[in-house]
Amino acid sequence: MDFSDTAAETEFRQTARAWIQGNAPTYLAAPLSGSGFGSTRTGDFDPIAEAKKWQKTKADAGWACIQWPKEYGGRGATPIESVIWSQEEGIYGKLSGTFIIGQGMCAPTMMAYAGEEAKLRYLPKLASGEEIWCQLFSEPHGGSDLAGLRTKAVKDGDTWVINGQKIWTSGAQHSDYGILITRTDSDVAKHRGLTMFFLDMKSDGVDIRPIKQANGDSGFNEGFFDNVRIPDAQRLGEVGDGWKVALTTLMNERLAIGGSIATGFPEIQALVSELVLANGPASSDQAVRSNLAMSCIMPPATNLPMLFSGPGISPLDNAEIALAPVFFNPALLAYQSANFDRTA
Ligand SMILES: Cc1cc2nc3c(=O)[nH]c(=O)nc-3n(C[C@H](O)[C@H](O)[C@H](O)COP(=O)(O)OP(=O)(O)OC[C@H]3O[C@@H](n4cnc5c(N)ncnc54)[C@H](O)[C@@H]3O)c2cc1C
Repeated sequence: MDFSDTAAETEFRQTARAWIQGNAPTYLAAPLSGSGFGSTRTGDFDPIAEAKKWQKTKADAGWACIQWPKEYGGRGATPIESVIWSQEEGIYGKLSGTFIIGQGMCAPTMMAYAGEEAKLRYLPKLASGEEIWCQLFSEPHGGSDLAGLRTKAVKDGDTWVINGQKIWTSGAQHSDYGILITRTDSDVAKHRGLTMFFLDMKSDGVDIRPIKQANGDSGFNEGFFDNVRIPDAQRLGEVGDGWKVALTTLMNERLAIGGSIATGFPEIQALVSELVLANGPASSDQAVRSNLAMSCIMPPATNLPMLFSGPGISPLDNAEIALAPVFFNPALLAYQSANFDRTA
């Protein structure tokens, strides 16, 4: 496979690079370089405000969520152009962390299950960062066992009444909307009694309480739902089909997280330098070193997961999406190859 830019891709790269050089928030470069996964460092500046500002600047110029269709706020770009954009955006892409759940998980779910009117209303503002979304799945009694969730939705005319509790909801305190999975039938097998909705986080009866972490951050929240009313028009998928809808979200989550980690050789090298295997540092392991060398001489391949990460328009089915980050993340490959070799 030849990963070199074609003439058209070279032109695209130059256009993107010139725009980024002229518009990126260079005053954030130093703190952003200290950002880790799940924490965006912006020094003395407010991380949410800065993330929103950069996202809106990109959206106004047609550089937000570039693989999405134009009518939903994207650019209609190709998967390769999306990879090129991410390479060029580089460190400023870390500001997108605020939007990863909305753009990487909620948006593909909306694209697959919402009506056209809702897509046109919500997706462009998701792309531009004007509205932040969260994913309300986990519960105190239904974390790993998602299908065991207990938050109830009961139909009342053309609305649903929600009662229950969610937990570990990333970014809920900053969110305008969320996708919410509920139990609508307790008398059938647990995977069959679920229904998905999207809701306005400012609805009456929604109480979001940030969880204080040991490091002082509050990345997660508890969410309490007390007779919250959601119009039936905001149901995603059929009644009882929530498990299927949730799988769309979760498979895209794997891709969004996997794709966001493997950004280039420096990141992979840094990760490997921290890994310790049974026989010592991973960076001393022959198989790891060999795979690392491959990553170095084929840098564009490190972005392969992103080739498949066009939310809602992925050519892969759920099972393939689930495997993509494992197949294409060289850091994982390096690590796994070392272990496979050892057990062979
Ligand atoms: C960085 C991060 C961000 C997150 N963001 C969100 C978010 O935005 N929205 C959201 O909804 N959730 C979020 N979560 C929650 C996450 O997706 C999981 O649902 C949650 O962490 C698992 O639930 P739990 O912590 O209650 O663990 P539990 O479900 O209690 O599991 C604890 C342990 O028990 C094991 N276990 C559980 N059930 C069984 C079983 N039946 N048989 C055998 N073993 C079992 C598990 O494998 C695990 O080792 C986030 C988590 C993390 C780490």
